[in-house]
Amino acid sequence: MAVIDTTEQAPAVTAKTTSAPPGHYRAAVVHEFSSRLTIDEIPRPVLEPGQILVEVEATGLCHTDIHAAHGDWPVKPSPPFVPGHEGIGIVRELGPAVTEVALGDRVAMPWLGYACGTCDYCVSGWETLCLEQKNMGYSIDGSFGEYAVAYGRYVVRVPDGIDPFDAAPLTCAGVTTYKAIKVAGTRSSDLVAVFGVGGLGHMAIQYARIAGGRVVAVDLTDEKLELARELGASFTVNAAKEDPAAAIQRLGGADQAIALAVSPRSFEQAFGSLRRGGTLVFVALPADNEMKLPIFETVLNGITVVGSIVGTRTDLREVFELHAAGQTTVTREIRPLAEVNEAIADVEAGHVAARVVLSP
Ligand code: ZN
Ligand code: ZN
Repeated sequence: MAVIDTTEQAPAVTAKTTSAPPGHYRAAVVHEFSSRLTIDEIPRPVLEPGQILVEVEATGLCHTDIHAAHGDWPVKPSPPFVPGHEGIGIVRELGPAVTEVALGDRVAMPWLGYACGTCDYCVSGWETLCLEQKNMGYSIDGSFGEYAVAYGRYVVRVPDGIDPFDAAPLTCAGVTTYKAIKVAGTRSSDLVAVFGVGGLGHMAIQYARIAGGRVVAVDLTDEKLELARELGASFTVNAAKEDPAAAIQRLGGADQAIALAVSPRSFEQAFGSLRRGGTLVFVALPADNEMKLPIFETVLNGITVVGSIVGTRTDLREVFELHAAGQTTVTREIRPLAEVNEAIADVEAGHVAARVVLSP
């Protein structure tokens, strides 16, 4: 069961001295795509210029971590590696030439672990498209451990007062859907169809509402649709019981549809739910990489189809700002990192309402 927990508050970050990090720390490691993660002792690395060592307090379990652990995608990580790109923790050690953060800062370690900082994408606010990027928990080790190495320039400070267990899902699920709503161009009075009410969807509903939109949420279980209504969805459609495209067309059609479910069929339904002039935003990354996109209807109805990949450091700062201002709620359940395999199985079986956050 999901627990909406807003009572735990993070302690103020005051410590500026480092408690000496240990010589080894425990982390969950993928050794083979077909097998379970193991909890290993990892030697503390020597930090390179720009790197920091972070003592992890909380790390969210994203579908991407599961795809990484299974090697589902065309570009695969190389085992052994540590997944995790929703890590929150305290900076305990600074490598050479780190000026962006200080010891004792609480930081978020997002998917975009590193970018070059100088290419056209980086300098134009599209660092998430940088060809030199390194991704936490994928091309570099992530945050499924007691400690994690990150780049000081690409972490984002977590404001005081935000619970680390809230901050973790905001670091991917939050920023990714916040960016998707920005890319969608949602304005007041728009009808926004959110396909998939999970870790991402439950945040997308809230950001669409903040942008002024009305939301129709689509999922396969009534439990998730109930959560969607609690978070502000005006309408819900159970796609296991009726065709969501037809149901949303009866509402007048969606101005924007946000595709968050890892199923090409759901993407096709999202396309079918749009009104003329509507925008379909691709966010989820199904292992099955193809969908049917009708050319005729796309042209005649003036449809825009756009991909949206995570978000920048600026987007994440805005996400934290909204949460600190009390405008968003994170639905999550906390589990020990040692139970990561059980958590993955439960997410895959659809037994988790929104987000699992692992505690090292
Ligand atoms: Zn993610
Ligand atoms: Zn770049």
